[in-house]
Amino acid sequence: MYSQTEDTKANWTNVTVRILLVTTTLAISAYLMALIFWPIGFIAWLIIGVGGMLFFIVRQHARNSVYRCVECSNEFNISALADFFSPHTPNSKYLKCPKCYKQRWQPEINDTQQKV
Ligand SMILES: [Zn+2]
Repeated sequence: MYSQTEDTKANWTNVTVRILLVTTTLAISAYLMALIFWPIGFIAWLIIGVGGMLFFIVRQHARNSVYRCVECSNEFNISALADFFSPHTPNSKYLKCPKCYKQRWQPEINDTQQKV
């Protein structure tokens, strides 16, 4: 069981470490690629580095997000692909419920609320 304080602290530490790791990797790889293989190396870095970072952010969001169906109250997770491609607002996504198969604007529930 988590207390909310411990959970929030662990999340922030986790997020901070990941951001530092990604930023450092991107900065070093950009410098090396741009220096050695200009300009094709820079373009490759842009596609792989920025695309990869985007992929990890979307995957992380998909893993930590839970949606509640407005029709049947079923709570479900979605794949990284669905997370990336489905239309969304800051706190809801247009998704099909895996239980009742109705496609609606499903509200996102904060995952930390589930553990407390
Ligand atoms: Zn449903």
